[in-house]
Amino acid sequence: MGVRFLNTYSRQVEEFTPLDPAAKTVRMYTCGPTVYNYAHIGNFRAYVFEDLLQRHLEARGYAVQRVMNLTDVDDKTIRGSRQAGKRLSDFTQIYKDAFFEDLKTLRIKPAQHFPSATEPQYVDAMIAMITDLEAKGIAYQAEDRSVYFRLSKFPAYGQLAHLDLEELRPSGRVRSDDYEKESIGDFALWKAWDEDDGEVRWESRWGPGRPGWHIECSAMAMTLLGPEIDIHCGGVDNIFPHHEAEIAQSECCSGKKFVRYWLHCAHLMVEGQKMSKSLGNFYTLRDLLDKGWTGRELRFALLTVNYRLPLNFTFAGLEGARAALHRIDEWVVRLEQSGHGVSAAEPREGLVTHIADFFTALDDDLNISGAMGHLFDLIRESNKAIDAGELGAAEASGLLTQWRRIDEVLELEREAASVPEGVLDLVAKRQAARAAKNWAESDRLRDEIAGAGWTVKDTKEGPKLTPR
Ligand code: AMP
Ligand code: ZN
Repeated sequence: MGVRFLNTYSRQVEEFTPLDPAAKTVRMYTCGPTVYNYAHIGNFRAYVFEDLLQRHLEARGYAVQRVMNLTDVDDKTIRGSRQAGKRLSDFTQIYKDAFFEDLKTLRIKPAQHFPSATEPQYVDAMIAMITDLEAKGIAYQAEDRSVYFRLSKFPAYGQLAHLDLEELRPSGRVRSDDYEKESIGDFALWKAWDEDDGEVRWESRWGPGRPGWHIECSAMAMTLLGPEIDIHCGGVDNIFPHHEAEIAQSECCSGKKFVRYWLHCAHLMVEGQKMSKSLGNFYTLRDLLDKGWTGRELRFALLTVNYRLPLNFTFAGLEGARAALHRIDEWVVRLEQSGHGVSAAEPREGLVTHIADFFTALDDDLNISGAMGHLFDLIRESNKAIDAGELGAAEASGLLTQWRRIDEVLELEREAASVPEGVLDLVAKRQAARAAKNWAESDRLRDEIAGAGWTVKDTKEGPKLTPR
């Protein structure tokens, strides 16, 4: 069996086949941050899950073309820039820069494209789409001069969210002071300029204004990936109305099925509530770094819970991540020591099984907790074999090669994980000195190893290295 995903659209686990299976290319669109503040770690749960998805597809031989947009114009960014007394682009740049830095800290692979909604080519694409929808009778300009999507023209609306949207169906013109739409569910494609928008405005056939959030994603996705996308992701809060609206707009323009697989991660929770800026119960990555946690530890905590399950954020969880990483680090060092300078051999059957199982678990809708279980089985059993003096150098070296394959997906190895070759040479020399009972030379080498940042301890299984 190949890769399978739970598709939000069908609520079924489906075999994954991209639009162009022969090319083994995957077109993937991921909704990115609204850049009016530092992203919180709930947002990063979504991005870490998408990173795992990309890396596992790559491990399975796919070339992933990924786009992540940056929403740099909407009510929140405009309000923020006015409060800060900055031009919109200067204001959002601060948070774009911070976002890219945070992605690096969390070891998230950069997407191929990070389009910003305000780039002229995308604004042009948004206007072209709205013009097309208007020509088809699907978009209309209301009395408030904004342009809306006529929901009655797209009966499939609500299918992704599995909602009964009867109440959103047209029931005569809705009118109130702030309601000019034909139907309550109609959503804005183009927002007419008003004073609160200040200098943020684009000219259009409907007068000055700015695009709505939903059309931004449709236009950027279709411009960069074409009208048919293999995978579209986000957090569950994106399903409705954002992704419903994206489907409606895109499919009405192209006449094609917009997305083959929809994947949504559950929320990061804090004490039973969604972590969000509006509830004020959030941590940014920077908050955690200030408290002494590392990006790698947070990556572990976010990555290792299956994406469809809610994840409760706790500091005990981060402690657990730290301990688990420590275990991995120690194991990697042992393999490096045992396999130093020896070419790799295939590890024994019993160990190879765990490696294959790691990847097979991920095939099953990214079952990362299952995959980590297999990794820790591998660690436990190979440690036992080393303790018993049963793991040959070539086999250790082969395991290290396999670990590196696994870590292409996890990206969890310590920054300077590899014991430098020079240090391993010193350890070997020291072993020789000890065998020759040259204790002075052995002590001198221990100091030299310490000087290079490593502690060597002699155990009954041989010398054990740990970073100082
Ligand atoms: P936003 O900046 O609010 O548009 O959100 C950016 C991304 O983060 C979207 O994919 C959201 O669904 C996702 N997101 C927001 N809050 C959370 C949360 N608490 N847990 C997981 N994902 C979230
Ligand atoms: Zn989006």
